[in-house]
Amino acid sequence: MINFPTTLDGLYINGQWSAGREHLRVINPATEALLTTVNGGDEHAVDQAVAAATAAFKHWSQTSGVERGAMLRNIANGVRNGREHLMKLQSSNNGKPQFEAAIDVDDVIATFEYYAELAEGLDASQDSNVPLPSDDFSARLRREPCGVVGLIVPWNFPMVTTAWKLAPALAAGCCVVLKPSEVTPLPELELAAIIAEAGLPKGVFNVVCGTGLAVGAPLSADPRIARISFTGSNAVGVQVMQRAAETVKGVSLELGGKSSLLVLEDADLQLAVELACGGGFFNAGQMCSATSRVLVAEELAEEFLERLQKRARAIRVADPFDPDVEMGALVNQAQYQRVLGHIDRGLSAGAKLVCGGNRPADLPRGYFLQPTVFTDVPLDSALWCEEIFGPVLCVRSFSSEAEAIALANDSQFGLVASVVTRNAETAERVANALQAGLVWLNAPQVIFPQAAWGGYKQSSIGRELGPWGLAAFQEIKHVIRAL
Ligand code: NAD
Repeated sequence: MINFPTTLDGLYINGQWSAGREHLRVINPATEALLTTVNGGDEHAVDQAVAAATAAFKHWSQTSGVERGAMLRNIANGVRNGREHLMKLQSSNNGKPQFEAAIDVDDVIATFEYYAELAEGLDASQDSNVPLPSDDFSARLRREPCGVVGLIVPWNFPMVTTAWKLAPALAAGCCVVLKPSEVTPLPELELAAIIAEAGLPKGVFNVVCGTGLAVGAPLSADPRIARISFTGSNAVGVQVMQRAAETVKGVSLELGGKSSLLVLEDADLQLAVELACGGGFFNAGQMCSATSRVLVAEELAEEFLERLQKRARAIRVADPFDPDVEMGALVNQAQYQRVLGHIDRGLSAGAKLVCGGNRPADLPRGYFLQPTVFTDVPLDSALWCEEIFGPVLCVRSFSSEAEAIALANDSQFGLVASVVTRNAETAERVANALQAGLVWLNAPQVIFPQAAWGGYKQSSIGRELGPWGLAAFQEIKHVIRAL
């Protein structure tokens, strides 16, 4: 266990740590105990951070890709050296098991290394010729950093959502003001401390911890910010976009999901059960990519449900540091109550509870919930239509491939989908028909920094990761010359 100081500085501005005026209580969700208080910022701190980043941009935007790549490699190495400590902070502050925290930290390292490589390749591709249908003119294309950017992230994958924005922003040559979630500042502050040691010039990277209203709102509105990259709920994403619209700044939004796992008639049932549990209960279901709708071919439905509920009941819900834990705690009281409310409303709407729905009997404290499975969920109920963000699966059978695709696509969201089938051709055909930014075929939810992240419809605007993640922080300039 980590011994935290009573208070922590929540501001890192222009290369200096300091305490802001807002006191953020940080809780361990597995014990409900107060871990520490982070002294976060407000509008004034945002103003200072944006000013520092604006001043630093003059120099940082002119550095070579190779120089920036070296900094990103320093950060990746710092994270690697601090891996164990960062894992402990993740589990203490977020409630996720240590094995999940390890996946997060490794993802952060891989992301910084990937964008280091892209940064190192930028110098050679900085000015590229553009063929024109005329001998009288020549043209070249330059990609330049878009300016000072604001990064606003949620609590469900702290550090990971940060790395997905921060690494490409720094690689592009942007200066950054990061606002972590007020719920999980501890791993983010440790990551910031590692970055502070990586050798970046002062002002390039700034952190302002704080609430959405005190920090996120003024950051979204600040006219000196060129772009806001936001991950979080749809309700807040809309507000961020509205504020950003006042000064016509670009926004990238990674929002909610209501994704499906399709178990087709020839599926390997055991694999389907494991993928359903992974897609529903990893991170206690607090994933934008949760495949909370499980659609099963009617021939398999009875057997699948039998196996799923047996597996779900056997999942070991426990303290995140327990060596045998399979599922940890939900992040806080508010989220816990929200999920319980969804379960209650689902029951009132007529859905049938197959298993779970309650606190595990052996865990009287902490925000723990049993893995929960429903059937007979009405198609117009909140349980079926809205993002639950908890360990709750809704299982429904279908009678044809077309019906399964229609059920999966019938959502305001379109983030991801999973398909289980032994037929490769069917798998590819169904993947092509699904309205989702990422489709896994017979695979767990593996994510690579090389592949795009983001969704259709109200799940996203833009894509993170891959070259698309870098392009989001670049402006395109054409220079046309008369010959
Ligand atoms: P949230 O929208 O409540 O908060 C996200 C961030 O926005 C936090 O840092 C918060 O302080 C800040 N914020 C709150 N109000 C604000 C305002 N008015 N202006 C600016 N910033 C403000 O989301 P959450 O509860 O932290 O996270 C859960 C949500 O995040 C879920 O909906 C989930 O689907 C989504 N999410 C999406 C992805 C993705 O990649 N699509 C990934 C992770 C989480």
